[in-house]
Amino acid sequence: MSKKLTHLKVVFLSIILILVIFTGCIESQQELTASEKESQKEILLDLPCILPEWKDGDYHGYYETMQMLNDFNSRFPNLVDVFTIGRSVLGKDIKCIRISNERNITEKYTCLIDGCIHGSEWEAGEACLYFSEYLLINFGNNKTVTNILNKTVVYIVPLMNPDGRDNDDRYNGNGIDLNRNFNIDFGRLRGHCMPLGKILGRKIPYLSLPRLNLWFTNCGRRPFSEPESQAIRDLMRFLDSQRFSFYMNCHTATHSINTPWSAFKPPFKMTSQESIVYDTIRKWVSENTEYEDRQLWYKASGTAPDWCFKEFRIPSVTFEILSMDYEPGSGGGKHDNLVHWMKTTIPIFMFMLENVENLYSWEIPDIVPSLPKGVPPNPLK
Ligand SMILES: [Zn+2]
Repeated sequence: MSKKLTHLKVVFLSIILILVIFTGCIESQQELTASEKESQKEILLDLPCILPEWKDGDYHGYYETMQMLNDFNSRFPNLVDVFTIGRSVLGKDIKCIRISNERNITEKYTCLIDGCIHGSEWEAGEACLYFSEYLLINFGNNKTVTNILNKTVVYIVPLMNPDGRDNDDRYNGNGIDLNRNFNIDFGRLRGHCMPLGKILGRKIPYLSLPRLNLWFTNCGRRPFSEPESQAIRDLMRFLDSQRFSFYMNCHTATHSINTPWSAFKPPFKMTSQESIVYDTIRKWVSENTEYEDRQLWYKASGTAPDWCFKEFRIPSVTFEILSMDYEPGSGGGKHDNLVHWMKTTIPIFMFMLENVENLYSWEIPDIVPSLPKGVPPNPLK
């Protein structure tokens, strides 16, 4: 009797086990079908890219920029993460937006785009916001943008110098030019840098001797003395372990694309392959956009792109938005035609991103980016 009962128990348990396994199969089959459908949808939809609906005059100061990043986070939770990478001299958050298809967990490339290292160069920060929105609104509808966010994690810091942006000032809260505060050929007079500090309690950000055609900008007392440059340095160090592929440092207003070296005395000679890749980037920009291939006409020590190239040996680019008549001298100028200038930046960002694999391995970036109608726009008259 007890043997018969045991036998019945075994049969009963086996039936339950088979049912559990069978149901599991059906469920996983259903999951697979749903994810297949999702990926098919992503591949099938290849609509032309749309542009963010911005209006001329809609500039974003520090608080509007923070608001916009939070809005992106709420609207696109599977694509966006917003986090603080440090605090400015006057205690403002330096925020980074991370954009990628978070549901795709394959190993990706990373890159960094930042703006407003010089706080008075508003359009550099605006370009970061505009491009973030461009990627977000086209993911899932446009094949190119979808592919980009499936294989790359794009890190964007729109306001590297939030105090400067808030005060419309090139310098940070200590009167220091952050793009001279990096540890590369630091503080060199022939790189137009000097640790000026304060005189009688007054910040001295700039010293000009026009009769001698000499000028010096305040680089700080030592490399990375400022919390803002430390924050970007630490973010780059983190990205170095994440297939860091390229760095773009956005400015206004010399209407050009520049590549290392800006330093008066570079720490090493770049290889011929590195030269070729840099030449190709500048050539593509000058032939396909209104921006010019123009290396800095003066030497500058301690810049972020030079340091990034020296330290991580990845393509590092200075992108100067707007044209020369917007910002005579250094710091601040007129701001208009916002939408036009934003459209001019899309081809350059897309060129870099579509070539992310080539840039990562220092191969020639030869992929022509796909661009929506009206981009780049006709130059202003
Ligand atoms: Zn600048």
